Amino acid sequence: MELAAQRSFEWCEGWGMASGSHARVLRPRGLDELRECLAAARDEGASFALRGGGCSYGDANTTSRGVVLDLSRWNARLDFDTRSGVAEVDPGVTVRQLWQSILPRGHWPAVVSGTMFPTLAGAAAMNIHGKNAWRVGPIGDSILEFDLVDAAGELRTCTRTTHPDLFHAAIAGAGSLGVFTRLRLSTKRVHSGELLVRAKRTANLAETMEWMESRLGTADYLVAWIDCFKDGEASGRGVIHEGRHLRPDEEADPERSLSVARQELPARIAGVFPKSEVWRFLRLVNNDAGMRFVNAAKHLAGEIEERQGWYRQSHAAFAFLLDYVPNWKWAYGRSELRGLVQHQLFVPKERAKEVFLAVLERDRRAGHASYLGVVKRHRADAFWLTHGLDGWSLALDYKVEPARRVELMAHLDGNTRLVLEAGGRLYLAKDSVMGVEDARRMWGGELLARFGALKRELDPRGLFQSDQHRRVFGADFAALS
Ligand SMILES: Cc1cc2nc3c(=O)[nH]c(=O)nc-3n(C[C@H](O)[C@H](O)[C@H](O)COP(=O)(O)OP(=O)(O)OC[C@H]3O[C@@H](n4cnc5c(N)ncnc54)[C@H](O)[C@@H]3O)c2cc1C
Repeated sequence: MELAAQRSFEWCEGWGMASGSHARVLRPRGLDELRECLAAARDEGASFALRGGGCSYGDANTTSRGVVLDLSRWNARLDFDTRSGVAEVDPGVTVRQLWQSILPRGHWPAVVSGTMFPTLAGAAAMNIHGKNAWRVGPIGDSILEFDLVDAAGELRTCTRTTHPDLFHAAIAGAGSLGVFTRLRLSTKRVHSGELLVRAKRTANLAETMEWMESRLGTADYLVAWIDCFKDGEASGRGVIHEGRHLRPDEEADPERSLSVARQELPARIAGVFPKSEVWRFLRLVNNDAGMRFVNAAKHLAGEIEERQGWYRQSHAAFAFLLDYVPNWKWAYGRSELRGLVQHQLFVPKERAKEVFLAVLERDRRAGHASYLGVVKRHRADAFWLTHGLDGWSLALDYKVEPARRVELMAHLDGNTRLVLEAGGRLYLAKDSVMGVEDARRMWGGELLARFGALKRELDPRGLFQSDQHRRVFGADFAALS
């Protein structure tokens, strides 16, 4: 294979559409093809940005200087052992393929993101978390074993005990140490295809966090939407959703309930609007006035939902609410320099409320109020470049407009300062602004140096590098020395 002969360029962008570039794209479907790609890159001095489903919002899966190695088509193998609940998958198998395969057998992935389209290798590389993060940790905590292929094409099988450093560095390592080519992960036994769900409307951020904190001991899932336009006493008002798994005695017809057909999201919203067209309506309200209106309606709807008490909802509808409206991101505009960036702020529990209120206030004053705010609770984990901590996260979606794009990035950089000063962290899957100094502050020079030693061992010539790696770890990974 000659990379230079690969003449077809494709537009590769981050999920938020606000950044991207033209690149050659290679799509290996197995180990031999991968090794061919690696050998060609070594011969020609090219570099690779690894890409799975392309669901990271920023520049983690793109490169303006090399070739994109897209692993999403390497997805034929999905083995599942019903007795142990352990799945063994190719790197390009998606969260969607996994849940659709295992749910009829009474299991659900231990951790899923708010969308079902990430590949499991991409999910491991970012160490994704779900609405149960405080309870079960990130996806890395359910991974038992993986194969990782380094720049020389050598395969290492890693577990917590065989290669403990590499295990904890490659998960959350953002694809900088090598290519995941196989993953084994445990899943959760479920007795129904539905969850018990209830809503709680809150008056402000303090109430949102206190109520969630009071449910940590009993809930299986907790997530809060907050209204980022409201100020003063109402800052951070929102609606919390709590989910609980059903016990075997609470499900009368498990076979029917566990079928994939029962999970399908309806094709029409309120039985009327085809959901494929809903993004066009969302575009009409994708401005400050429109979002104030939408937020007020959502908050009101939260009260009605709260009065309803506990109700049943399918796993897919609860977990993948954002997939309900296909291409909703197009409401943010699809032309050059538009789109959205997401900034997810992780702050230790002692400082979270204060920092989140300061960020919300700062956003409003600057005219950058987020159009979507989501609060979750997390726990600490053992992965080296983790975003996880014993605290809270606030994920904020910002509209990118050409005239204010540069100013927005500077503004988000200011929010980053508030988070890091409070001992917090950012999440590489949702990052567009972090720099080398931020990485040093977040993870510490000593840990980055250990990570750098692994990088030099597995990839001495810097074959694996995305735009984000160069931004966060410096050119030639200088920040890792
Ligand atoms: C609507 C939406 C909702 C989301 N909700 C959540 C959420 O609730 N929680 C959460 O944690 N995240 C969430 N995410 C983010 C998403 O889960 C992560 O960005 C995830 O990493 C995407 O996986 P992917 O397969 O698309 O990987 P990509 O975005 O393509 O790549 C992600 C990283 O994985 C690396 N990579 C890809 N394949 C491999 C491989 N085979 N070996 C080694 N490295 C590889 C890439 O280099 C890159 O660094 C959400 C994203 C969207 C769009």
